Amino acid sequence: MSAIRRVDGELWMEGVRLAEVAKRFGTPCYVYSRAAIETEWHAFDRALAGTDHLVCYAVKANSNLAVLGILARLGSGFDIVSGGELARVLAAGGRADRVIFSGVGKSEEEIRAALAAGIRCFNVESEPELERLNSVAGSLGRAAPVSLRVNPDVDARTHPYISTGLKGNKFGIAHDRALAAYDLAASLPHLEVTGIDCHIGSQILDMAPLEEALERVLELAAAVVARGIPIRHVDLGGGLGIRYREEETALDIGRWCATVARRLAGSGFSLVLEPGRAVVGNAGVLLSRVEYLKLDKGKRFAIVDASMSELIRPALYEAWHEIVPLAELGRAAATYDVVGPVCESSDVLGTDRSLAIAPGDGVAILSAGAYGMVMSSNYNSRPRPCEVMVDGARAVEVRPRESVASLYAGESTLD
Ligand SMILES: *Cc1c(COP(=O)(O)O)cnc(C)c1O
Repeated sequence: MSAIRRVDGELWMEGVRLAEVAKRFGTPCYVYSRAAIETEWHAFDRALAGTDHLVCYAVKANSNLAVLGILARLGSGFDIVSGGELARVLAAGGRADRVIFSGVGKSEEEIRAALAAGIRCFNVESEPELERLNSVAGSLGRAAPVSLRVNPDVDARTHPYISTGLKGNKFGIAHDRALAAYDLAASLPHLEVTGIDCHIGSQILDMAPLEEALERVLELAAAVVARGIPIRHVDLGGGLGIRYREEETALDIGRWCATVARRLAGSGFSLVLEPGRAVVGNAGVLLSRVEYLKLDKGKRFAIVDASMSELIRPALYEAWHEIVPLAELGRAAATYDVVGPVCESSDVLGTDRSLAIAPGDGVAILSAGAYGMVMSSNYNSRPRPCEVMVDGARAVEVRPRESVASLYAGESTLD
């Protein structure tokens, strides 16, 4: 679901005019749609209605408590990658027994916190992690539920920085070592081996690699069970791609879920999915304002008040975000590179965009709900933007803009 629509030249999210949000809360400003988040989460949950399943939203995509709270109320599970994300999920009212813990570098402290909270499963990514988990669980007198993240060695055909399922990648346990790792896990006294998982990359638009990974994981799952290790769930990760530009077609959530459900029917395995981007990506926009239009050697720049500090995806992955004016004011269009004020040549939000804008106009950078605010920084001492949740006709500030003073509040000068 696209969170926004244009009415009489003005951009709206649900029952709220975005120019009004920009005026009331200032720019840059992230704005999310509750209805869009709920619609996307339900797309998974409904497509899997006939299958024993848990949709575990990948918290790292957008971890604002309002987003997590909305999903917790729907009964969502959560996929976390740190102790910080666990704390957020619990603070937002999420259930610990619906939390799974992914990531290659879980510290002892993080493992302890997750065991104490009583999470559903640890998705373990290496043999040394199995040993550490076993020892921490033993010291607490608990059994840790574990799944092994296997690397199915499938090319997700996405950007190399967000591809994780190939050999030589830091994530997961190599396919040819997986059974030995299961034997090790089953031999450790404080572990309870409950599942198998994989995650081959992000922003995958082609279903073929996902289906390939599904087959390889199911093959391994059968081999694990045949060894007398009775795993019960299969976790296929996230990575489902969304539509960032018109010429793209999003991965069809309904089709993917139907494919998985068909393949798992009668297997006895329950299913876990870990979508992040697909739930929130198109539910959010970043509002900004044009500061200057600059002409240099025939090249036009639109310098806006958002930057790579607020949205790093274009600079980091050469990601494409649609940029549109908040209001169509009948101005003449020209082609611009849309750039921010940060002192880096890579501080670009979009190149060669045809825009009908003037200084002072508001613009929206679309599809910014995932990997936007969570990857923001204070580079150039820029206060992080505020975040607003739209719910029907309401626009609620769910995180205020940082103040400049707060940026150095804990710092000091030498005497
Ligand atoms: C990042 C990540 C996800 C979510 O990926 P999306 O592309 O946002 O769906 C899910 N599982 C794991 C293990 C991840 O690292």
